[in-house]
Amino acid sequence: MTEINTLSKSNLVEIIERISAEIIDQKDVLSRLDTEIGDGDHGFSMATGFGSVSEKIVEYSQLPIGGMLKKIGFELIKTIGGAAGAVFGTMYTGQASYYDKNLAGKEHLSLGDLSMMYSEALRQVKRRGGANMGDKTMVDALEPAVVSLEQSHLDGASFQEAFSMAAEQARSGAEETRSMVAKHGRAKNLGERALGYIDPGAVSTALMFEVIRDYLLEQRP
Ligand code: ADP
Ligand code: MG
Repeated sequence: MTEINTLSKSNLVEIIERISAEIIDQKDVLSRLDTEIGDGDHGFSMATGFGSVSEKIVEYSQLPIGGMLKKIGFELIKTIGGAAGAVFGTMYTGQASYYDKNLAGKEHLSLGDLSMMYSEALRQVKRRGGANMGDKTMVDALEPAVVSLEQSHLDGASFQEAFSMAAEQARSGAEETRSMVAKHGRAKNLGERALGYIDPGAVSTALMFEVIRDYLLEQRP
């Protein structure tokens, strides 16, 4: 396998298309998880949001990388709505704000660039939603994945290696939410009755990193 060391805008567009397809494909599974500890709409809301993004991605792709990521984020905030819209949208607007501030005009992103974009996204997601590790939210999957990307960058890893590890970390972070009591969102009202159930937003987040890993492993530059 040839190592990938940069990602272009067209790679990012393909990744967004794949993420959208996967979220739509897993809609019922995600909603069923939300039925256990929420109101059962997570898959439906996420599929609506990513469905809308996938219809508009060709239009968005005319913009520079920062503008494109910002449009994706705003569309998710608008179409998913609520706290989930805010945090999943901020996952993209946060990346956009790092790019615009520090990387504007750059067309080939290194792993270092992408890991910094994700770090800023994580910081903004946590500020926006107020959740930290252990609160039984998507942050429990996102943070270990982002920390892993930062470490992989320091270790000089390829994109494939970095996202393979990040996906593993996101998935195990999501699994760990089973043993957590929720401090945010609807599951908070359940208290200890939420024990044993996985957080749906953490599963969505793990799916996103797994899609990126699979995409990268398929590339033959
Ligand atoms: P809603 O809770 O409005 O029905 P969804 O069911 O679509 O929205 O999404 C629920 C998911 O959103 C949760 O599983 C959790 O991961 C995430 N979430 C909710 N509130 C927060 C928050 N404050 N910070 C981070 N993530 C959150
Ligand atoms: Mg819900």
